[in-house]
Amino acid sequence: MDSRRRRIPRTDSLLVEPRLAAAADRLGRATVKAAVVAAQGQARQGEITPEAVADAAVAALPAHAATLRPVLNATGVIVHTNLGRAPLSAAAVDALAAAAGTTDVELDLATGRRGRRGEGAAQALAAAVPTAEAVHVVNNNAAALVLAATTLAQGRDVVLSRGELVEIGDGFRIPDLLASTGARLREVGTTNRTALADYAAALDDTPSDTPSDTPNGAPGSIFDGAPAGSVGAVLKVHPSNFVISGFTAAVAVAELAPLCARHAVPLVVDVGSGLLAPDPLLPAEPDVATALAHGADLVCASGDKLLGGPQCGLLFGRAALVTRLRRHPLARALRVDKLTLAALEATLRGPEPPVRRMLTADVAVLRARAGRLVDELCAAGCTAEVAECESAVGGGGAPGVTLPSVAVSLPTWYAEPLRLGEPPVLARVERDRTLLDLRTVEPASDQLLADAVRRAGDAHPGRR
Ligand SMILES: *Cc1c(COP(=O)(O)O)cnc(C)c1O
Repeated sequence: MDSRRRRIPRTDSLLVEPRLAAAADRLGRATVKAAVVAAQGQARQGEITPEAVADAAVAALPAHAATLRPVLNATGVIVHTNLGRAPLSAAAVDALAAAAGTTDVELDLATGRRGRRGEGAAQALAAAVPTAEAVHVVNNNAAALVLAATTLAQGRDVVLSRGELVEIGDGFRIPDLLASTGARLREVGTTNRTALADYAAALDDTPSDTPSDTPNGAPGSIFDGAPAGSVGAVLKVHPSNFVISGFTAAVAVAELAPLCARHAVPLVVDVGSGLLAPDPLLPAEPDVATALAHGADLVCASGDKLLGGPQCGLLFGRAALVTRLRRHPLARALRVDKLTLAALEATLRGPEPPVRRMLTADVAVLRARAGRLVDELCAAGCTAEVAECESAVGGGGAPGVTLPSVAVSLPTWYAEPLRLGEPPVLARVERDRTLLDLRTVEPASDQLLADAVRRAGDAHPGRR
């Protein structure tokens, strides 16, 4: 026993072993040392031989310095919050890798002077929504709402329909978010029905001394400073993660805008999902361009839902309002980093991002892919079949919308080994089957998926 212990290689000599020394350059010395110490411990316990310590340490090393791992999303939920929402396009990944070092994010190389931070992303957004007078990017849509409410309504009222008191997710609620800015929430209407008269009553104690034909931030207008009344803003929030049906009524932006203009109170519209223009596939989903055309003064949206970009919050609207937001001290705390700006610009200018491709994927093509995968898996001894199914847009919006799709259907027990495999595969368990919905799997990942299923089957030969 003691001689065996004495044969366990020392930490110093293990750390200069070529494979472990190379790993230290990639992963950091502390990570490699931890693997080495763990392997020495295994040898001390007699679980492995002293000669196997180096190999065991190498085998235990993580693939990357960070613990976040790429996961194959076969759930059929296109924008999956737990899987990081929108996967970035190759163009966006390239752009953020290029920006990762020192970069001209805030420098005009032509003059050598300081440049406007994120000018490229701002121009791409302006080009995507030409009717917006100005744009601004913050950390996420919640940050956009916080910045708007703080700037426009701190110490004053934000008028919001009771039908739009939305919980975004993970316990975070729009009303709490607004309250945290020091704005007072002024609820109007009821859960199921809100009328124009409800908004009008709330706005009644706000003076309407500004001419209704200059709501656009002309000098001296209400949009340059704090209006005198108690209402700082009227907010419309798209209920993007639920639907209420039956005896319902809501006031459209186009109806609300003239009322707000008459009272010189800015109308802020949270469209949520980040559609910049109407999408015929998702007719019930609001978009930025339409909200602006219907008279919204400020529109905010997420960057990592249906737009298919990085996490960020997008603000579009009247120049005077956007300028006030950008100059607010809080704007600095909510600003995005160079990686986000790079990925956002590339998402807007580059080829269709994965979210768009998944939304528009042709079912016949999905069926053909499923057929090929099932043939391959059956030949390898797995019990796989092609199954028709339905995908969802997910956390990205469009509640209640399903898209016809096609899956590789497996026995239920596959779900766990697939999730625990490398790469992890997330499936959907439905009606006693494990479904791999191909709508949310990039075609380029089909082989990875087939290999993962085959490995899960090989690990449980008795069950497959
Ligand atoms: C998703 C969503 C939010 C929150 O956006 P984040 O980008 O996650 O901060 C706010 N409002 C609506 C309507 C949403 O759909």
